[in-house]
Amino acid sequence: MRTFDYRRAAHQAEALALVKADQSRYLGGGTNLVDLMRQNIEAPAALIDVSRLPATIEDTPNGGLLIGAAARNSAVAAHPAVRTRYPMLSRALLAGASAQIRNMATVGGNILQRTRCAYFYDAAGSRCNKREAGAGCDAITGFNRYHAIFGASEHCIATHPSDMCVALAALDATVHLASGDGERRVALLDFHRLPGDHPEIDTALRPGELITAIELASSPAAANSAYRKVRDRSSYAFALVSVAAGLEIAAGKIKDVRIALGGVAAKPWRATRAEESLRGQAPTRERFLAAADAELAGAKTYEGNAFKVELAKRTIAAVLGELSGDDA
Ligand code: SF4
Repeated sequence: MRTFDYRRAAHQAEALALVKADQSRYLGGGTNLVDLMRQNIEAPAALIDVSRLPATIEDTPNGGLLIGAAARNSAVAAHPAVRTRYPMLSRALLAGASAQIRNMATVGGNILQRTRCAYFYDAAGSRCNKREAGAGCDAITGFNRYHAIFGASEHCIATHPSDMCVALAALDATVHLASGDGERRVALLDFHRLPGDHPEIDTALRPGELITAIELASSPAAANSAYRKVRDRSSYAFALVSVAAGLEIAAGKIKDVRIALGGVAAKPWRATRAEESLRGQAPTRERFLAAADAELAGAKTYEGNAFKVELAKRTIAAVLGELSGDDA
């Protein structure tokens, strides 16, 4: 690890004043960034500690929820409003990492965590376009059990590791951002990017920009929601496939449905094809399986991850079955 300056910001204005766009990184809980620095994958000249910035979780005037970016993952998961109005978010957070890490990790840092592709972390021995543009990608012909089946490119097939972000994608969350140029809001679905020709760029975040909060709208589908994560061991493992879903049923028909997948793409994957095929339909297991088929028809697999297609189909159907009361 290289030497760096450390400054703690007492408030947002101080953080924005301290940051030097290309040389600094904001520090939340440090549960990913410090690892990246230890591995010499990231080497900022300065860390601006924003972990003392607002961590409040409060109602919005339109019935939604505003979650401060410094809120700890464990605090968000345990908050009564999250547990009752956005259960998929609480369950997704509790499915992530370990209790110790959830106590440290912040919402802002969770959104910005980088892929866990093993080749990305092997700076001494592997080729990786995300770490070094133009270097090549050893995962495409290597060990790709954990890699993408949607939205990959010839340059990168990595997946996004966050559980929380899958729930936020299904909930149509909005990311609040601030910089010296002012404030702006970006839909979470537009915040993370697919690799394309530039896998080294993970997000729409501009240099020096700070995540200040996440905003959630309220909806019946958000209140009737769940998250299921399938992984190689029962804790402290990243998703092979995960599903965040919400369902609103009225008069025996699906009025609203939200489905997002994790472990399948470089960003949380919103299953729009599946959603479209379900709206207005009766909530049956056959419909759920057909919707999953429609979504997974667009998958592209690699040698080690073809199993994800069937796994994703079954998990989508199982979660929607749980939400509709038809667990058959
Ligand atoms: Fe790097 Fe992406 Fe290839 Fe992994 S999949 S080695 S992150 S370029």
